[in-house]
Amino acid sequence: MRLVYLLLLLVSLSSYAKVVLIDPGHGGEESGAVGHMGPKKMRVFEKTLALKLATKIKDELSKSTSTYLTRSMDRAVSLQERADLADLVKADLFLSIHFNSSTNRTSHGFELYYLDNNSNVAANKVERAENLNLKGEEHIVNQILVDLVVQQTVTHSKQLAAAVHEKIGPVVKKHKMTDRGIKPGLFYVLALSKRPGLLVEAGFVSNPNELQKINQEAYLNDMAKGISEGVVAFIKSQK
Ligand SMILES: [Zn+2]
Repeated sequence: MRLVYLLLLLVSLSSYAKVVLIDPGHGGEESGAVGHMGPKKMRVFEKTLALKLATKIKDELSKSTSTYLTRSMDRAVSLQERADLADLVKADLFLSIHFNSSTNRTSHGFELYYLDNNSNVAANKVERAENLNLKGEEHIVNQILVDLVVQQTVTHSKQLAAAVHEKIGPVVKKHKMTDRGIKPGLFYVLALSKRPGLLVEAGFVSNPNELQKINQEAYLNDMAKGISEGVVAFIKSQK
């Protein structure tokens, strides 16, 4: 029964996107990655940067399309609640915004993920970090669901990733970031949302040099603009 409902839902997805749901990762007691900045080792939380960037993307995208946030303040939202919001606002696209972390403090750069099964070790590390705030969703995210969602979304998600990647190219260059490219990843929030979408890792908070850069308004503004332009270009290409 559940499978039939899921199939109907997937088939009913419109042919081009009109409503974009932007998902600032983590929130509340779930801080995500934590970085340290400056001589006083000031703590910077991934959840804070993610909300800042997501809000800026919303402001940009709202100029041309309907846009919503899964959270607009510092509060905990489960992955399932985020996905339920996609149904509530009838989202056509889902953008999950995150910042990266690594035990290797020299790791740096920007990367884009779309939902797909993969066996890449580096991607698995990011998956583990971003799939952490589960509240029982691991029981819902079974292989049948993942396979179905991948089947229905992967073409559009890849096109969306390519469009965003093209537009953020100049931003990445301007801010001397490393472009780590587009990668497949098994992210529960993307699977649960059942929409074409992306998970953005907009730099490493664990790298003190990179944190200085990504914690600046100039970087977040340019990145928000680039991502939004990519989303708009994708929407236009689907019409
Ligand atoms: Zn994250």
